[in-house]
Amino acid sequence: MDKHSPVPTCGDDFEQGTLPLDLARDKILASLNPVQGSETVDISKALHRVLAESVTSPIDVPTHTNAAVDGFAIRGSDLPPPGETREFRIIGTALAGLPYPGIVNPSTTVSIMTGAAMPEGADTVLMQEHVTQDGQRIVVDGKYRQGDNVRRAGEDIRKGETALHQGHYLLSQDLGLLASLGRMEVTVKRRLRIGLLSTGNEILPLGHPPEPGKIYDSNRFSLLGALQPLPVETIDYGIIPDDPAQLRHTLMQAARRCDVVISSGGVSVGAADYTKQVLAELGGIEFWKVAIKPGRPLAFGRIGDAWFFGLPGNPVAVIVTHYVFVLPALFKMSGANAPPLITGFPARSLEKLRKKPGRTEFQRGTLGRGKDGHWEVKLSGKQGSGILTSMTRANCFLILEHERGPVAPGEWVQVLPFSCLP
Ligand code: AMP
Ligand code: MG
Repeated sequence: MDKHSPVPTCGDDFEQGTLPLDLARDKILASLNPVQGSETVDISKALHRVLAESVTSPIDVPTHTNAAVDGFAIRGSDLPPPGETREFRIIGTALAGLPYPGIVNPSTTVSIMTGAAMPEGADTVLMQEHVTQDGQRIVVDGKYRQGDNVRRAGEDIRKGETALHQGHYLLSQDLGLLASLGRMEVTVKRRLRIGLLSTGNEILPLGHPPEPGKIYDSNRFSLLGALQPLPVETIDYGIIPDDPAQLRHTLMQAARRCDVVISSGGVSVGAADYTKQVLAELGGIEFWKVAIKPGRPLAFGRIGDAWFFGLPGNPVAVIVTHYVFVLPALFKMSGANAPPLITGFPARSLEKLRKKPGRTEFQRGTLGRGKDGHWEVKLSGKQGSGILTSMTRANCFLILEHERGPVAPGEWVQVLPFSCLP
Protein backbone atom coordinates (compact mmCIF):
# COMPACT_ATOMS: atom_id res chain seq x y z
CA MET A 1 0.00 0.00 0.00
CA ASP A 2 1.24 3.49 -0.81
CA LYS A 3 1.61 4.95 2.63
CA HIS A 4 0.83 8.54 1.84
CA SER A 5 -2.09 8.45 -0.50
CA PRO A 6 -5.71 7.61 0.17
CA VAL A 7 -6.57 4.11 -0.96
CA PRO A 8 -9.15 4.43 -3.70
CA THR A 9 -9.13 0.72 -4.66
CA CYS A 10 -12.61 -0.36 -3.62
CA GLY A 11 -14.30 2.78 -4.80
CA ASP A 12 -13.34 2.40 -8.43
CA ASP A 13 -16.65 0.91 -9.51
CA PHE A 14 -18.69 3.56 -7.84
CA GLU A 15 -19.59 7.12 -8.49
CA GLN A 16 -16.94 9.63 -7.41
CA GLY A 17 -14.72 6.87 -6.01
CA THR A 18 -16.97 6.20 -3.03
CA LEU A 19 -17.61 2.90 -1.34
CA PRO A 20 -21.28 1.95 -0.75
CA LEU A 21 -22.15 1.57 2.92
CA ASP A 22 -22.84 -2.18 2.75
CA LEU A 23 -19.55 -2.88 1.01
CA ALA A 24 -17.59 -0.83 3.54
CA ARG A 25 -19.31 -2.62 6.42
CA ASP A 26 -18.78 -6.03 4.81
CA LYS A 27 -15.08 -5.30 4.35
CA ILE A 28 -14.77 -4.33 8.00
CA LEU A 29 -16.69 -7.35 9.27
CA ALA A 30 -14.78 -9.75 7.02
CA SER A 31 -11.49 -8.51 8.55
CA LEU A 32 -12.49 -9.14 12.15
CA ASN A 33 -12.54 -12.23 14.33
CA PRO A 34 -14.03 -12.77 17.79
CA VAL A 35 -11.53 -12.23 20.58
CA GLN A 36 -10.30 -15.18 22.64
CA GLY A 37 -10.67 -15.36 26.36
CA SER A 38 -13.52 -15.61 28.81
CA GLU A 39 -14.23 -15.14 32.48
CA THR A 40 -16.81 -16.32 34.97
CA VAL A 41 -18.95 -13.61 36.48
CA ASP A 42 -21.81 -13.38 38.93
CA ILE A 43 -25.06 -13.12 36.97
CA SER A 44 -25.72 -9.72 38.55
CA LYS A 45 -22.60 -8.51 36.71
CA ALA A 46 -23.41 -10.19 33.40
CA LEU A 47 -25.64 -7.54 31.82
CA HIS A 48 -24.50 -6.62 28.27
CA ARG A 49 -21.89 -9.38 28.22
CA VAL A 50 -21.71 -12.16 25.63
CA LEU A 51 -22.16 -15.77 26.76
CA ALA A 52 -19.08 -17.95 26.23
CA GLU A 53 -21.05 -21.10 27.10
CA SER A 54 -24.41 -22.54 26.19
CA VAL A 55 -26.53 -22.75 29.31
CA THR A 56 -28.62 -25.89 29.76
CA SER A 57 -31.20 -26.12 32.46
CA PRO A 58 -30.53 -28.51 35.38
CA ILE A 59 -34.23 -28.37 36.33
CA ASP A 60 -37.72 -28.07 34.96
CA VAL A 61 -38.95 -24.48 35.10
CA PRO A 62 -41.38 -24.25 36.74
CA THR A 63 -40.35 -27.20 38.90
CA HIS A 64 -43.92 -28.16 39.75
CA THR A 65 -47.28 -27.93 38.04
CA ASN A 66 -49.01 -24.98 39.69
CA ALA A 67 -51.98 -22.64 39.69
CA ALA A 68 -51.88 -19.69 37.28
CA VAL A 69 -54.61 -17.80 39.19
CA ASP A 70 -56.15 -17.59 42.65
CA GLY A 71 -59.14 -19.95 42.79
CA PHE A 72 -60.19 -23.53 43.33
CA ALA A 73 -58.43 -26.70 42.21
CA ILE A 74 -60.70 -29.51 41.02
CA ARG A 75 -60.62 -32.66 38.91
CA GLY A 76 -61.40 -31.59 35.35
CA SER A 77 -63.48 -34.74 34.81
CA ASP A 78 -65.85 -33.36 37.47
CA LEU A 79 -66.78 -30.29 35.47
CA PRO A 80 -70.49 -29.96 34.69
CA PRO A 81 -71.63 -30.07 31.06
CA PRO A 82 -72.35 -26.71 29.41
CA GLY A 83 -75.51 -25.08 30.76
CA GLU A 84 -75.43 -27.03 34.05
CA THR A 85 -73.91 -26.28 37.46
CA ARG A 86 -72.21 -28.42 40.07
CA GLU A 87 -71.33 -28.13 43.74
CA PHE A 88 -67.91 -28.84 45.32
CA ARG A 89 -66.89 -29.10 48.97
CA ILE A 90 -63.76 -27.16 50.04
CA ILE A 91 -61.42 -29.55 51.83
CA GLY A 92 -58.33 -27.40 52.32
CA THR A 93 -55.98 -24.69 51.11
CA ALA A 94 -52.81 -24.69 48.97
CA LEU A 95 -50.56 -21.64 49.25
CA ALA A 96 -47.48 -20.78 47.18
CA GLY A 97 -44.67 -22.62 48.94
CA LEU A 98 -47.12 -24.50 51.21
CA PRO A 99 -48.78 -27.31 49.27
CA TYR A 100 -51.99 -29.10 50.25
CA PRO A 101 -50.87 -32.55 51.44
CA GLY A 102 -54.05 -34.53 50.64
CA ILE A 103 -55.83 -35.72 47.51
CA VAL A 104 -58.60 -33.93 45.62
CA ASN A 105 -61.37 -36.53 45.18
CA PRO A 106 -64.54 -36.18 43.06
CA SER A 107 -66.80 -33.34 44.18
CA THR A 108 -64.13 -31.86 46.44
CA THR A 109 -61.95 -28.82 45.86
CA VAL A 110 -58.93 -27.09 47.39
CA SER A 111 -58.72 -23.32 47.66
CA ILE A 112 -55.49 -22.50 45.79
CA MET A 113 -53.33 -19.40 45.33
CA THR A 114 -51.26 -18.41 42.27
CA GLY A 115 -47.99 -20.35 42.18
CA ALA A 116 -49.11 -23.04 44.64
CA ALA A 117 -48.38 -26.63 43.58
CA MET A 118 -51.41 -28.44 42.21
CA PRO A 119 -52.65 -30.96 44.77
CA GLU A 120 -52.74 -34.62 43.78
CA GLY A 121 -55.84 -35.48 41.75
CA ALA A 122 -56.54 -31.92 40.61
CA ASP A 123 -55.77 -30.71 37.06
CA THR A 124 -57.93 -27.60 36.64
CA VAL A 125 -58.22 -24.29 38.50
CA LEU A 126 -61.43 -22.29 38.56
CA MET A 127 -60.90 -18.57 38.98
CA GLN A 128 -62.14 -17.25 42.30
CA GLU A 129 -64.21 -14.60 40.47
CA HIS A 130 -65.99 -17.28 38.40
CA VAL A 131 -67.50 -19.38 41.19
CA THR A 132 -70.18 -18.72 43.78
CA GLN A 133 -68.99 -19.48 47.28
CA ASP A 134 -71.31 -20.36 50.16
CA GLY A 135 -69.32 -21.19 53.27
CA GLN A 136 -67.37 -24.39 52.61
CA ARG A 137 -69.10 -24.98 49.26
CA ILE A 138 -68.69 -23.55 45.79
CA VAL A 139 -70.99 -23.73 42.80
CA VAL A 140 -69.46 -23.98 39.36
CA ASP A 141 -71.07 -23.48 35.95
CA GLY A 142 -70.23 -25.33 32.77
CA LYS A 143 -68.00 -22.74 31.10
CA TYR A 144 -64.68 -24.30 32.07
CA ARG A 145 -62.45 -26.79 30.31
CA GLN A 146 -60.21 -29.41 31.83
CA GLY A 147 -56.65 -28.08 32.34
CA ASP A 148 -57.63 -24.41 32.53
CA ASN A 149 -55.44 -22.02 34.57
CA VAL A 150 -52.69 -24.52 35.24
CA ARG A 151 -48.99 -23.98 34.51
CA ARG A 152 -47.26 -27.26 33.70
CA ALA A 153 -43.91 -28.24 35.19
CA GLY A 154 -41.23 -27.51 32.55
CA GLU A 155 -43.56 -25.45 30.34
CA ASP A 156 -41.01 -22.58 30.35
CA ILE A 157 -37.83 -24.70 30.09
CA ARG A 158 -37.41 -28.46 30.37
CA LYS A 159 -34.58 -30.04 32.33
CA GLY A 160 -31.65 -30.54 29.93
CA GLU A 161 -32.94 -28.02 27.40
CA THR A 162 -30.61 -25.21 26.20
CA ALA A 163 -31.94 -22.05 27.77
CA LEU A 164 -29.41 -19.63 26.23
CA HIS A 165 -26.89 -20.26 23.47
CA GLN A 166 -23.23 -19.36 23.36
CA GLY A 167 -22.82 -15.93 21.77
CA HIS A 168 -26.01 -14.58 23.32
CA TYR A 169 -25.76 -10.87 24.22
CA LEU A 170 -27.24 -10.78 27.71
CA LEU A 171 -30.13 -8.44 28.44
CA SER A 172 -31.95 -7.97 31.72
CA GLN A 173 -34.53 -10.65 30.96
CA ASP A 174 -31.70 -13.14 30.38
CA LEU A 175 -30.36 -12.50 33.88
CA GLY A 176 -33.84 -13.31 35.20
CA LEU A 177 -33.90 -16.49 33.14
CA LEU A 178 -30.47 -17.59 34.43
CA ALA A 179 -31.69 -16.97 37.97
CA SER A 180 -34.81 -19.06 37.29
CA LEU A 181 -32.49 -22.00 36.53
CA GLY A 182 -30.64 -21.46 39.80
CA ARG A 183 -27.49 -20.24 38.01
CA MET A 184 -25.38 -17.88 40.13
CA GLU A 185 -22.51 -17.46 37.66
CA VAL A 186 -21.98 -17.63 33.92
CA THR A 187 -18.95 -17.75 31.67
CA VAL A 188 -18.83 -14.75 29.36
CA LYS A 189 -16.42 -13.57 26.70
CA ARG A 190 -13.83 -11.16 27.99
CA ARG A 191 -14.58 -7.51 27.52
CA LEU A 192 -13.08 -5.77 24.50
CA ARG A 193 -10.73 -3.01 25.49
CA ILE A 194 -11.46 0.17 23.56
CA GLY A 195 -9.20 3.23 23.43
CA LEU A 196 -10.93 6.52 22.67
CA LEU A 197 -9.41 9.75 21.54
CA SER A 198 -10.34 13.03 19.92
CA THR A 199 -8.06 14.92 17.58
CA GLY A 200 -7.76 18.55 16.64
CA ASN A 201 -6.07 21.77 17.77
CA GLU A 202 -9.48 23.41 18.08
CA ILE A 203 -10.87 20.85 20.54
CA LEU A 204 -11.15 22.03 24.13
CA PRO A 205 -11.39 19.78 27.16
CA LEU A 206 -14.32 20.26 29.53
CA GLY A 207 -13.44 22.47 32.47
CA HIS A 208 -11.45 24.79 30.22
CA PRO A 209 -12.93 28.31 29.75
CA PRO A 210 -14.34 28.90 26.27
CA GLU A 211 -11.85 30.31 23.76
CA PRO A 212 -12.42 32.02 20.43
CA GLY A 213 -12.15 29.56 17.55
CA LYS A 214 -12.27 26.53 19.82
CA ILE A 215 -15.04 24.04 20.58
CA TYR A 216 -15.61 21.63 23.40
CA ASP A 217 -14.97 17.96 22.78
CA SER A 218 -18.41 16.44 22.36
CA ASN A 219 -17.45 13.38 20.32
CA ARG A 220 -15.67 11.55 23.08
CA PHE A 221 -18.76 11.79 25.27
CA SER A 222 -21.16 10.68 22.53
CA LEU A 223 -18.90 7.66 22.00
CA LEU A 224 -18.43 6.93 25.71
CA GLY A 225 -22.21 6.87 26.08
CA ALA A 226 -22.77 4.77 22.96
CA LEU A 227 -20.21 2.21 24.16
CA GLN A 228 -21.70 1.79 27.62
CA PRO A 229 -24.27 -0.90 26.78
CA LEU A 230 -21.64 -2.94 24.91
CA PRO A 231 -19.40 -5.69 26.26
CA VAL A 232 -16.41 -3.37 26.39
CA GLU A 233 -14.24 -1.40 28.76
CA THR A 234 -13.04 1.99 27.60
CA ILE A 235 -9.74 3.73 28.12
CA ASP A 236 -9.91 7.44 27.57
CA TYR A 237 -6.88 8.93 25.79
CA GLY A 238 -8.35 12.42 25.80
CA ILE A 239 -7.71 15.09 23.18
CA ILE A 240 -4.64 14.94 20.98
CA PRO A 241 -3.66 18.15 19.19
CA ASP A 242 -2.74 18.05 15.52
CA ASP A 243 0.86 17.32 16.37
CA PRO A 244 2.41 14.32 14.59
CA ALA A 245 4.71 13.24 17.41
CA GLN A 246 2.02 13.36 20.09
CA LEU A 247 -0.50 11.68 17.87
CA ARG A 248 1.90 8.90 16.89
CA HIS A 249 2.88 8.33 20.49
CA THR A 250 -0.73 8.15 21.74
CA LEU A 251 -1.90 5.90 18.91
CA MET A 252 0.98 3.45 19.47
CA GLN A 253 0.38 3.44 23.21
CA ALA A 254 -3.35 2.88 22.77
CA ALA A 255 -2.78 0.13 20.21
CA ARG A 256 -0.50 -1.76 22.62
CA ARG A 257 -3.16 -1.79 25.35
CA CYS A 258 -6.40 -2.01 23.41
CA ASP A 259 -8.22 -4.35 21.04
CA VAL A 260 -9.76 -1.41 19.22
CA VAL A 261 -8.76 2.25 19.00
CA ILE A 262 -11.39 4.78 17.97
CA SER A 263 -10.53 8.34 17.09
CA SER A 264 -12.61 11.17 15.72
CA GLY A 265 -11.55 13.99 13.45
CA GLY A 266 -8.73 14.44 11.00
CA VAL A 267 -9.70 11.89 8.36
CA SER A 268 -11.56 14.12 5.93
CA VAL A 269 -10.19 15.10 2.55
CA GLY A 270 -8.01 18.17 2.84
CA ALA A 271 -8.10 18.21 6.63
CA ALA A 272 -5.52 20.76 7.68
CA ASP A 273 -3.99 18.49 10.26
CA TYR A 274 -1.57 15.61 10.56
CA THR A 275 -3.85 12.79 11.58
CA LYS A 276 -4.07 11.23 8.15
CA GLN A 277 -0.37 11.52 7.54
CA VAL A 278 0.51 9.94 10.87
CA LEU A 279 -2.02 7.15 10.36
CA ALA A 280 -0.69 6.50 6.88
CA GLU A 281 2.85 6.25 8.26
CA LEU A 282 1.73 3.64 10.79
CA GLY A 283 0.76 1.44 7.87
CA GLY A 284 -2.17 -0.93 7.54
CA ILE A 285 -4.85 1.75 7.47
CA GLU A 286 -7.13 2.50 4.55
CA PHE A 287 -8.89 5.79 4.01
CA TRP A 288 -12.31 5.45 2.52
CA LYS A 289 -14.88 7.78 1.13
CA VAL A 290 -18.07 5.98 2.05
CA ALA A 291 -21.29 6.80 0.21
CA ILE A 292 -23.05 7.82 3.37
CA LYS A 293 -24.27 11.13 4.75
CA PRO A 294 -23.29 12.22 7.27
CA GLY A 295 -20.01 10.39 7.74
CA ARG A 296 -18.29 10.16 4.38
CA PRO A 297 -14.64 9.96 5.43
CA LEU A 298 -13.64 6.87 7.37
CA ALA A 299 -10.29 5.28 8.16
CA PHE A 300 -10.10 1.61 9.06
CA GLY A 301 -7.28 -0.83 9.57
CA ARG A 302 -4.54 -2.05 11.88
CA ILE A 303 -2.16 -0.31 14.23
CA GLY A 304 0.06 -3.05 15.58
CA ASP A 305 -2.25 -5.71 17.04
CA ALA A 306 -5.21 -3.35 17.42
CA TRP A 307 -7.99 -2.49 15.02
CA PHE A 308 -8.39 1.17 14.29
CA PHE A 309 -11.49 3.21 13.42
CA GLY A 310 -10.85 6.80 12.37
CA LEU A 311 -14.29 8.34 12.50
CA PRO A 312 -15.13 11.72 11.00
CA GLY A 313 -14.98 14.80 13.23
CA ASN A 314 -18.48 16.16 12.85
CA PRO A 315 -20.58 15.32 15.90
CA VAL A 316 -23.54 13.73 14.08
CA ALA A 317 -21.24 11.89 11.66
CA VAL A 318 -19.47 10.31 14.64
CA ILE A 319 -22.73 8.92 16.00
CA VAL A 320 -23.91 7.66 12.61
CA THR A 321 -20.61 5.96 11.75
CA HIS A 322 -20.46 4.44 15.23
CA TYR A 323 -23.87 2.90 14.68
CA VAL A 324 -23.23 1.80 11.08
CA PHE A 325 -19.65 0.50 11.34
CA VAL A 326 -18.31 0.33 14.89
CA LEU A 327 -21.31 -1.27 16.57
CA PRO A 328 -21.56 -4.34 14.29
CA ALA A 329 -17.77 -4.65 14.39
CA LEU A 330 -17.68 -4.68 18.18
CA PHE A 331 -20.50 -7.21 18.36
CA LYS A 332 -18.63 -9.51 16.01
CA MET A 333 -15.35 -9.08 17.91
CA SER A 334 -17.06 -9.79 21.21
CA GLY A 335 -18.28 -13.13 19.91
CA ALA A 336 -21.96 -12.18 19.77
CA ASN A 337 -24.07 -14.26 17.39
CA ALA A 338 -25.74 -11.32 15.72
CA PRO A 339 -26.26 -7.74 16.73
CA PRO A 340 -29.65 -7.62 18.46
CA LEU A 341 -30.71 -4.81 16.18
CA ILE A 342 -33.97 -3.95 14.55
CA THR A 343 -33.12 -2.32 11.25
CA GLY A 344 -36.25 -0.22 11.06
CA PHE A 345 -39.73 -0.11 9.57
CA PRO A 346 -41.64 2.18 7.18
CA ALA A 347 -43.22 5.47 8.18
CA ARG A 348 -44.86 8.16 6.06
CA SER A 349 -42.79 11.27 5.60
CA LEU A 350 -44.80 14.35 6.51
CA GLU A 351 -42.50 16.59 4.55
CA LYS A 352 -40.39 16.89 1.44
CA LEU A 353 -36.87 15.54 1.99
CA ARG A 354 -33.77 16.52 0.09
CA LYS A 355 -31.86 13.43 -0.98
CA LYS A 356 -29.32 12.70 -3.70
CA PRO A 357 -29.11 9.24 -5.26
CA GLY A 358 -25.76 7.52 -4.80
CA ARG A 359 -25.42 7.60 -1.01
CA THR A 360 -27.27 6.33 2.03
CA GLU A 361 -28.51 9.18 4.20
CA PHE A 362 -29.25 9.12 7.90
CA GLN A 363 -31.54 12.07 8.51
CA ARG A 364 -32.89 12.67 12.00
CA GLY A 365 -36.57 12.94 12.78
CA THR A 366 -39.45 12.58 15.17
CA LEU A 367 -41.70 9.61 14.75
CA GLY A 368 -45.27 9.35 15.94
CA ARG A 369 -48.65 7.81 15.12
CA GLY A 370 -50.85 9.63 12.64
CA LYS A 371 -54.65 9.92 12.90
CA ASP A 372 -55.10 6.84 10.70
CA GLY A 373 -52.81 4.81 12.98
CA HIS A 374 -49.85 4.78 10.57
CA TRP A 375 -46.38 5.84 11.64
CA GLU A 376 -45.47 9.34 10.51
CA VAL A 377 -42.11 11.09 10.62
CA LYS A 378 -40.84 14.63 10.24
CA LEU A 379 -37.36 16.10 10.43
CA SER A 380 -36.03 17.29 13.76
CA GLY A 381 -34.79 20.64 12.49
CA LYS A 382 -31.59 21.59 10.69
CA GLN A 383 -29.73 18.56 9.37
CA GLY A 384 -26.10 19.70 9.24
CA SER A 385 -23.60 17.03 10.31
CA GLY A 386 -22.38 19.37 13.06
CA ILE A 387 -25.85 20.03 14.48
CA LEU A 388 -26.08 17.74 17.47
CA THR A 389 -29.54 19.02 18.43
CA SER A 390 -30.82 17.33 15.25
CA MET A 391 -30.10 14.12 17.21
CA THR A 392 -31.20 15.23 20.67
CA ARG A 393 -34.54 16.60 19.40
CA ALA A 394 -35.14 13.46 17.36
CA ASN A 395 -36.29 9.98 18.33
CA CYS A 396 -35.28 8.17 15.14
CA PHE A 397 -33.11 8.01 12.05
CA LEU A 398 -34.74 8.25 8.64
CA ILE A 399 -32.64 5.88 6.57
CA LEU A 400 -32.84 6.94 2.93
CA GLU A 401 -31.50 4.24 0.64
CA HIS A 402 -28.49 4.57 -1.67
CA GLU A 403 -30.47 4.75 -4.93
CA ARG A 404 -33.21 6.98 -3.66
CA GLY A 405 -33.76 10.56 -4.83
CA PRO A 406 -35.79 13.35 -3.20
CA VAL A 407 -38.78 12.27 -1.11
CA ALA A 408 -42.19 13.86 -1.64
CA PRO A 409 -44.57 14.43 1.28
CA GLY A 410 -46.59 11.26 1.91
CA GLU A 411 -43.92 8.85 0.64
CA TRP A 412 -42.86 5.94 2.83
CA VAL A 413 -39.38 6.02 4.30
CA GLN A 414 -37.48 3.60 6.50
CA VAL A 415 -37.19 4.75 10.12
CA LEU A 416 -35.07 3.39 12.93
CA PRO A 417 -36.09 4.51 16.42
CA PHE A 418 -33.12 5.37 18.61
CA SER A 419 -34.70 3.14 21.25
CA CYS A 420 -33.98 0.16 18.96
CA LEU A 421 -30.25 0.83 19.31
CA PRO A 422 -28.39 -0.74 22.20
P1 AMP B 1 -12.06 17.29 10.96
O1 AMP B 1 -12.47 16.08 10.20
O2 AMP B 1 -10.99 17.04 11.95
O3 AMP B 1 -11.74 18.41 10.04
O4 AMP B 1 -13.34 17.73 11.79
C1 AMP B 1 -14.58 18.05 11.16
C2 AMP B 1 -15.40 18.95 12.03
O5 AMP B 1 -15.70 18.28 13.25
C3 AMP B 1 -14.68 20.22 12.44
O6 AMP B 1 -15.62 21.28 12.43
C4 AMP B 1 -14.19 19.94 13.82
O7 AMP B 1 -14.02 21.09 14.60
C5 AMP B 1 -15.31 19.07 14.36
N1 AMP B 1 -14.82 18.18 15.42
C6 AMP B 1 -13.73 17.41 15.33
N2 AMP B 1 -13.53 16.73 16.48
C7 AMP B 1 -14.52 17.11 17.32
C8 AMP B 1 -14.87 16.77 18.67
N3 AMP B 1 -14.14 15.90 19.36
N4 AMP B 1 -15.96 17.33 19.21
C9 AMP B 1 -16.70 18.21 18.50
N5 AMP B 1 -16.43 18.55 17.22
C10 AMP B 1 -15.36 18.04 16.64
MG1 MG C 1 -9.50 18.04 12.90
